[in-house]
Amino acid sequence: MSGEGDTPQAIRKLSPGRLVIASHNAGKVREIAELLGPYGIEPVSAGELDLPEPEETGTTFVANAELKALQAADLSGLPALADDSGLCVDALGGDPGIFSARWAGDAKDFDLAMRLVEDRLNEEPDMPRAAHFVCALALAWPDGHVEWFEGRVDGTLVWPPRGGNGFGYDAMFLPIGGEQTFGEMDAAAKHAISHRADAFRQLVAAVL
Ligand code: IMP
Repeated sequence: MSGEGDTPQAIRKLSPGRLVIASHNAGKVREIAELLGPYGIEPVSAGELDLPEPEETGTTFVANAELKALQAADLSGLPALADDSGLCVDALGGDPGIFSARWAGDAKDFDLAMRLVEDRLNEEPDMPRAAHFVCALALAWPDGHVEWFEGRVDGTLVWPPRGGNGFGYDAMFLPIGGEQTFGEMDAAAKHAISHRADAFRQLVAAVL
């Protein structure tokens, strides 16, 4: 972001051609490929190129997305796109936040992770249940240039969890104004309002 008095930097456009999707999650790679297909982008996954998975040492979603995208762009010599996302609970100071996946442990047990969130919310009476999902997207080029975008969806946490669709913390997240949790919605309804869709809309509008 440019500070006061800085010359605003032009947003760099992404040319049609190969783009590394800096993720080893097959579901994410497929979803991103579908979103970018209509723009003449040819997605190549980090797995196909045998790229290593960097340690997520950043303290923000954007920092983690940036470090993944920059490493993939540097090693592949191609532009690269990475994302980082998670659930932030206001009353828990933004936890689990960038540690959302890690709260589920090595077994990736999100029933356990949701239970941990609920237990923390019950440590004091009447804790507010407001929460939001964040998705940061970073697009990096081999010369070190990065564009980033952050999407968000606000909601409240319900207990017990509801619905078997989606993944992660979806079953306890009720978006503002909705009657169904993300876990009860079908994929299209969730994608219309999700943090990931918000970030992608910003990316498409800015660089494509
Ligand atoms: P990442 O793969 O490092 O970005 O970790 C993201 C983690 O945040 C996931 O493992 C989920 O626990 C959580 N998360 C992110 N987006 C969503 C979502 O749309 N629904 C439910 N959980 C999500």
